[in-house]
Amino acid sequence: MMFRFRRQVYLDNNATTKVAADVRKTMNRILKHSFGNPSSLYRVARDSGAILAESRQQVARTINARPEEIYFTGSASEANNQVLKALARSFYPQKDTIIATPIEHPSVIKTLEFLSTTGIKILYCPVDREGKVLLAELEKMITPQIFLVCVMLANNETGVLQDLAQIREITAARQVLLMSDCVQALGKIPVDVQKLGLDYAVFSAHKVHGPKGVGALYVAEDAPISTLIHGGHQENGLRAGTESIHNIAGLAAACQNVPRMLAASEKIAALKNKLVTGLKEIQPNLKLNSPEKDCLPNTLNVAFPGFDNAAFMGFLDYHGIGVSAGSACNTQINEPSPVLKAVGLTDDEARQTLRISLSDETTEKDVRYVLKVMRDYLQKKSSPVSMISPAQLDENMLFNPDLYILDIRAWYDRKILKSLPNSHEGSPVFLKKYLALIPKAKNILLVCQVGLDGPVAAYYLRSKGFRKVGFLMGGLAAWRMVHPDLYSKWSGKNIISIKESDFL
Ligand code: PLP
Repeated sequence: MMFRFRRQVYLDNNATTKVAADVRKTMNRILKHSFGNPSSLYRVARDSGAILAESRQQVARTINARPEEIYFTGSASEANNQVLKALARSFYPQKDTIIATPIEHPSVIKTLEFLSTTGIKILYCPVDREGKVLLAELEKMITPQIFLVCVMLANNETGVLQDLAQIREITAARQVLLMSDCVQALGKIPVDVQKLGLDYAVFSAHKVHGPKGVGALYVAEDAPISTLIHGGHQENGLRAGTESIHNIAGLAAACQNVPRMLAASEKIAALKNKLVTGLKEIQPNLKLNSPEKDCLPNTLNVAFPGFDNAAFMGFLDYHGIGVSAGSACNTQINEPSPVLKAVGLTDDEARQTLRISLSDETTEKDVRYVLKVMRDYLQKKSSPVSMISPAQLDENMLFNPDLYILDIRAWYDRKILKSLPNSHEGSPVFLKKYLALIPKAKNILLVCQVGLDGPVAAYYLRSKGFRKVGFLMGGLAAWRMVHPDLYSKWSGKNIISIKESDFL
């Protein structure tokens, strides 16, 4: 049997990172030996208590805080929720307004949207074309009603960095609290909560080669805070639930590696520059959405005019390269990311955008390989899967006996839109388990909700020896807009479900 080696290049480190070997070792050791509940005082429990205390010291040291100012949480999303909700509770109705930027992470934006239903007013401070907060605007926006300014240190999509020291000057002069989501900054640029003058800072282990499901919240000694998850007395009563000792120790072990990660940032930035230079040679009209200066060393956000990001991502995945798109999935439409919109990209530009995020494991060889694969795609040298536009998929094509429609939407998306007639509904996550059920001789059409997952699945089938594979551009949502009549006439008819019991 021919064995084709496929190179793997992971360039989505802003989404998550690979757990470092030493972090894994620490966690394994703790899972094996330190199962005690730190709330008790007998020997095994004391052991866990000591791990908890040492971890707190390590995290504090990493960001120049004191151990008493660190609270462990289940994620950075939870920590963002906790600060925003606690302060809203504490200040409202005497003060009722929060200022944030429009480029915050969804765990901030969605929490603010929730708070706005409870009477809290949210003001978004404008940013410039690079995503930097307009300081003069911020200054003008602060009134006696403002109790908090919330500005992320580094943006997850474009990598833009904010001048928090300047922002601190503005907030301190007006006795307004300052919170910063530092999730993407840690390990990539120095983070010193004292120097930055923060009242609150938020971190996540899995962005720094630590485990998923653990975050840290820094609360300056004199800053107000209250409980989000009520129950036991853990975390000084601020976060109930038996501590996830192995995860917390994993976060601390990852923090121990932060100086090493920072030492690699020049090398990472040089590799990113090589990528940019190479891409500009291939595609001179590309549009860089990441700023040249004041940017995370590892992050490159770039639009390729004329190239749909979903199809491009599928092609890259086919060649073992993992990146992410600059658009966010909504259940009805492939929406441009709010961050890219805020920095002035049109909807089309956002749908042509990829985010490429490197790590200290990225090599020169990786960059050369990525440039080669991207050149092939951008110069249209090879396209092993077909793109079917919604207009093309008319009644004739729909009922062609040679067509096998594979609908890989999630169950919750199927509640919103009914599948095309004669669709085979299968789970996207188990695709590799039911390959044998898909007829190789037919034309396979991959259908997803908004056009982001279909291309990746289509390229995957192609890599598994299916020769005639295509995907529906824009997914079912786009098709319904183009053919509302066909949708109401045929959708949901004659659906064949590929159940887990068919193949597991
Ligand atoms: N804040 C930023 C800037 C992020 O990039 C992320 C992760 O995507 C989060 C918060 C949420 O982190 P977690 O996955 O720990 O909830």
